[in-house]
Formats: sequence, structure tokens, C-alpha cells
Amino acid sequence: MTTEHHKIVIVGAGPAGCSTALWLARLCPNLAEHILVLEKARHPRRKVCAGGLTFRATEMLARMGLSLNIPHVKINHIRLLFENHRLDIKRPNCMSIIRRTHFDGMLCEAVKAAGIQVREDEAAERIRFDGEECFVETPASVYRARVVVGADGSKGLTHRLLPGFARFPGVGLTTDTPEHQSDGSDFREGRVTVDFTCNASGVPGYAWHFPFDDGERRGFNRGIYACSLNGPENHGNLISMLRESLESRGVGMDGRVLGGYGAGYYRGRRLSRPSLLLTGDAAGGNLFTGEGIVQALRYGQLAAEEIARAFSARDFSFRFYTARVAASDLGRELADAGRMAREFYTEGPALALPAMQADKKMRELVADYMAGVKSFRGIRRDLLGRMMATSIKCGAPGFSTVWRLFMRRLFGPKPK
Ligand SMILES: Cc1cc2nc3c(=O)[nH]c(=O)nc-3n(C[C@H](O)[C@H](O)[C@H](O)COP(=O)(O)OP(=O)(O)OC[C@H]3O[C@@H](n4cnc5c(N)ncnc54)[C@H](O)[C@@H]3O)c2cc1C
Repeated sequence: MTTEHHKIVIVGAGPAGCSTALWLARLCPNLAEHILVLEKARHPRRKVCAGGLTFRATEMLARMGLSLNIPHVKINHIRLLFENHRLDIKRPNCMSIIRRTHFDGMLCEAVKAAGIQVREDEAAERIRFDGEECFVETPASVYRARVVVGADGSKGLTHRLLPGFARFPGVGLTTDTPEHQSDGSDFREGRVTVDFTCNASGVPGYAWHFPFDDGERRGFNRGIYACSLNGPENHGNLISMLRESLESRGVGMDGRVLGGYGAGYYRGRRLSRPSLLLTGDAAGGNLFTGEGIVQALRYGQLAAEEIARAFSARDFSFRFYTARVAASDLGRELADAGRMAREFYTEGPALALPAMQADKKMRELVADYMAGVKSFRGIRRDLLGRMMATSIKCGAPGFSTVWRLFMRRLFGPKPK
């Protein structure tokens, strides 16, 4: 077995790993030849995902000098379904639906084009730390590095090197189906459907219907996301919920159903230790929407900035990384998403859903948030105001509940 030395080893060539590599190449071009990216699969590889990119991802790509030059469906409308309501919102170009095979392949090509070495079909099997160095072991080699970046996703190896990452509060099931007549003009008009009705049956989350077109095949990616902050046993019977959701549109569940997990971010979780930083799903994604692509791109930027600082100060403790992520727009967004998930999806029938069902403006605020048009911070005050007003007007969700929410937001425990 050979031993090689690289200053930086990035484990995983998904959006987080590729973004870290690309940002490093921009911030410190002289480091590019000293970076090695290890990827256990080979691009273009499959990844369980609905492929919803909010427009912030396109902005993020532009900042990285990339454009979305792969097949994708532009989304101009969002349809939100609740038990007794339907809300159609027009938000031109608010999302693009991509296929991860193409998207991640494109990112990986950009990494290679930046002069960074990527070794595919090579999985990190063990990582150990010895003094100031770390050693990443694969079946082929041992890589000695000054810095290891954990970008190996929610089920990877690196997050296990830090405490507090045992649970997967988000679970998603997804399947590709042909277009169905019940989809109506969704494809033509670029409409996605996000369906919250499963909450009424005990699944804390939503189902989705996203049109896709990968250049060879077009259809709908459909799935269900369940977020439980109380353990996976509360996810309900997801397969049967997915079947029900599809059947409600007259769609059969004939295709292969694939599943994936997401571990949510919460403030307080350590994202680094000397010589190691976590990014992307390995660090935790958006618990409310289950989203993580744009977040992975942003994590990559933050990690690259931290590594650049470490090389210039010759300090590889990364002791400020967790706090810097928490204080960044990303950390605030993810912490807010945790709170939002808690308010929407916990305590039996979600607390906020009755108010959303009763109040159109509130549904619009949530649609803006889901489309990435506004941050949670941007809607928080309005949201709370609407909930108060709704509870006074219609008794939903009840003044005492709103008061509890309000107090919790001010003083409540952090989402776990
Ligand atoms: C059903 C479902 C639907 C989703 N839909 C959306 C959506 O519509 N929009 C959205 O934004 N997000 C969505 N997500 C979340 C999104 O897929 C993730 O947040 C995103 O992929 C995170 O990127 P990442 O780079 O951190 O991890 P990943 O994309 O998981 O990449 C990790 C990479 O590391 C590699 N790897 C793993 N272990 C090793 C190892 N030991 N050695 C070397 N390489 C390794 C993997 O092969 C992989 O290429 C969805 C997730 C699921 C499960």
C-alpha cells in the first residue's frame, strides 16, 4: 500500500466537496495542486434526490463562476396543498429542477478543470489523527494530510468522528414516474406541487411532485419527506403515505422507490476538530424542507475560507469554524429551519398548520420561504403576527398555543 502526502484531502465529491475544492482554488490558487478529492463512486453517479434547486443555488453557482449548463426544468409556479386549501403562487424562475447525475457530474468536471486531483471509485475507509497530521485510509493508499474536509454526506464516515450526530431526523422517499394526465399543465407552466396533507395522517412533512427533463427522459419526480425531531419511529408509514399521495393524483407507484436520510443542522453541534471540518450533509442540512444542495455549496465556501485562514496563520485547530458557521447566513438559516420544523412538524398535528390553512398571507409567506425567495428571518415577524391574528380571528391554532410558540421562540430550547 502506498502513502501519499497532500495538504488537503476532501472526502466526497458531492456539492459540498466540489464547492470546497472550487472555492479553495479561487481563494488560494497555489493550494490547488495540493488538494486531493476522494470519491467512493464514479461520476456521473446516482444520488437519491428530488433535484430542486432554489434560485439561490443559481446565484451561488454564478459566484463560483459556473452556470447551470445541464438539462433542467425552470419553475415559475409553486402549488401548496393543505387539507382544505390549495394555494398557487407565481414566482418566475424561483427554482430549477435538475438531475443529480448531471449536476454533480458538472461540479466534479469543474473541479478537475481547476487542476484539482479527483480520485473516483476510492472510498475513505478510516481516518485517524496523529499529532498535527491526519491519515485517510482507502483500500489503495494511505493519504497523509494537514487538513481533511468531511463532505461525505449524511451517511458518511467523517461526521462520526465528532460527537452528536447519531440521528437522522429527516427521511425522504422518492420515485420517478412518467407524466400523468392529472399533472395537467404543470410541465408546460413549470409548476411544482408541495403537498402538506400528509400531516393530517400523522406524517410530519410533505409530499412533492417535481417535473424533470434530463435531456433523454422527462417525467415527474415524486416523493415524501418526513421530519421527526423525536426519533425515526415518528415518521409514520412513509411508503404507504407515498402510495396514497400518488394515488390521490391517479399515479401508480410502479417505479423503483429510493430512500435517503438527512441529518439536520442544529446550533451547538461541533463541526470541526483540529485538522477536520465538516461540510454539507455531513454537517447538517435544512430540517424544515429537507433541502441541502444550496446549503452544501455555501458550506463549501465557508470551509474554504476557514482553510485559507488556517494556512495563512499556520493554525489548524479550526476552533472557530463551528461558531463562524453558526454566525453566518447559512448557520442562521439552518437554525431557523430547525425551529420552523419544530413548530410545523412536532407535537401531533403541527402547531402552525391550522393557522396556515386559515390564513392566505401566511401560506404566501411560507411559499416565499420554500422557494428561497425570502429567508426565515425575513418572514419571521410577519409569520408570528399572522399567527397571532389568525388565532384571535379564527381560534386556530388557539391563543394559548401561539403564546407558547412566542415564548418558545424567545426563551425555548434549541432544536435538537
Ligand atoms: C429523497 C431526497 C430528496 C432530496 N431533495 C432535495 C431537493 O430537492 N433539493 C435540495 O436542495 N436537496 C435535496 N435533498 C438533500 C440533498 O440531496 C443533500 O442535502 C445534498 O446531496 C448534500 O450534498 P453533500 O455534498 O453534502 O452530500 P452528498 O450529495 O451525499 O455527497 C456526498 C458524496 O460523498 C461520497 N462519499 C460518501 N462516503 C464516502 C467515503 N467514505 N469516501 C469517499 N467518498 C464518499 C458519496 O459518494 C457522495 O458523492 C434531498 C435528499 C433526499 C434524501
